[in-house]
Order: sequence, then structure tokens, then C-alpha cells
Amino acid sequence: MSGIVVTPKGFSVTTKPIRDSGRFVGGVRYSPTTQIKPGERRSIRTEFKHGHPSHNKLPVGSVRERRETHTGLMRAWVKVAEPNVWKKRAVIVCESIHGPLPRGYVVHHKDRDSLNDDPLNLAALTRKDHQNEHRLDIALGHVASVLANFKHEFGYQEGVA
Ligand SMILES: [Zn+2]
Repeated sequence: MSGIVVTPKGFSVTTKPIRDSGRFVGGVRYSPTTQIKPGERRSIRTEFKHGHPSHNKLPVGSVRERRETHTGLMRAWVKVAEPNVWKKRAVIVCESIHGPLPRGYVVHHKDRDSLNDDPLNLAALTRKDHQNEHRLDIALGHVASVLANFKHEFGYQEGVA
């Protein structure tokens, strides 16, 4: 039994193990119909053109909205330099008005809308002040969930005494 298969377009080595010698010998399959030979171009229409950026390479100034993994909040990012340097839009807006954000400061969204980067909605706070600012949100959120649970448990309805 041989691992070599002769085909009309040449030869290929089968993936079948060659057991003649009693040893397992893996083979590499060269299929004349699927193998792309060096320099061969199969899809000229869809391949990248030299000197052109790929579709996911955006110019400086581009804005992208992405969900931040550690907070779950949406954020707008602006491409500020090549290659692939992005900065939070909130920080750019804040710095354009108040100057460079000092070390240890974060940009806070007053209305809690993380995509509302209107200058009037932004405030530079220390991390500690920022935590305190949101501590009330957490407390209020807790009150809201307790109240919702209470309404659910006891069938309380708004406006009904
Ligand atoms: Zn905040």
C-alpha cells in the first residue's frame, strides 16, 4: 500500500497513514483543485489593493462608539493619530475647554449618559470624588430595586392608595 496517488494534474500525498512498515506515517495532502500556488490569485475582485487602507482602518478624526468591558457603558472614541491611537471623546472635549486632564482625574458625565459628551455635561473629578458622586446612584438604584420588588411582591400600584 502506497501513500502516493497519481492524479491527472500531478501527484498528491494522501492523508491516509502508511502502515506498510507498521509505523504510523502522516501525510500532507496536496489537492490540485484547492491548493493555491505561489503567486496565484483566486479572488482578484475581493483582495486588498496595495497602497489602499483596509476597510477597518479609519482616518484620524474618526469616531467609534464601543461598549466598555469593565463598566458595560458605551463610550465614544476618536482616532487621534496613526497607527490606531484612540482617545475618549469626553476627555478630548473636556481638555479642549479646561486644558490637560490632571493625573488622577476622570471625566464624569453629569446626566449619566456616557455618550453625551456635550461640554456642559462633563466635569473633571478626582477618582475619589467620582466614586462619591456615583455612590448615591448605587444607593438610589438599590432603593429603586427594593421599591420595584416591593411593588411586585405586594401588588402595589402607582397612584393607588
Ligand atoms: Zn461619572
